[in-house]
Amino acid sequence: MTFDKAGRMVLPAAHGKAVRLKAGWSVRVTNPYGTQALDFWAFNATDHAEFLSMDNVRSFNSVAYVNKGTALVTTERRPIVCITEDSSAGNHDTLLCACNPAIYRELGVKGYHRSCSDNMHEALGEIGVAFPVTPAPLNLFMSVHVRPDGSLERLLPRSAPGASITLRAELDAVLAFSNCPQDVTTINGPDRTPRDCLLDILPPEGAA
Ligand SMILES: [Zn+2]
Repeated sequence: MTFDKAGRMVLPAAHGKAVRLKAGWSVRVTNPYGTQALDFWAFNATDHAEFLSMDNVRSFNSVAYVNKGTALVTTERRPIVCITEDSSAGNHDTLLCACNPAIYRELGVKGYHRSCSDNMHEALGEIGVAFPVTPAPLNLFMSVHVRPDGSLERLLPRSAPGASITLRAELDAVLAFSNCPQDVTTINGPDRTPRDCLLDILPPEGAA
């Protein structure tokens, strides 16, 4: 599971991938079916204790969800990535935790089930990074509506097939993606089927 010479890889359904990215470089995430949610994390490459922080994103921007133009800030309230292109339905969720083993137990799954939380640690481990906890993820392509009474409604995927999001690193960063393995609820579509996505590494604009 590595990038080809053109900087592209298929991220298999239900799996994760982490990449080191210099400031100015980007990753484009393409959702071939439009239905797949991806949990996303970003860490300062030189100090992992500084990371993309959903509570700081909500506080800094006064928002409950993220779109192109939202400042994606760290625990130190510095932008770490920027959404430079987004052809998805937008309103990416900041509220829900990464799926984890406890959630699948709650849902009645017997035995091991892959999860976004485990995917993050597995993917970071593949590039030699260990992190003690699972930060709250930015849930790309996932829409959660806050009802007037304060309750949350998990919306079905709303993006068109082929929708993509481009994330540019604003600092030297470690980025981690999890193709959400959720196949019990409908967060990855009414047929409850996790699917592959594509990752493309893109050089800084204007670079040869
Ligand atoms: Zn998940």
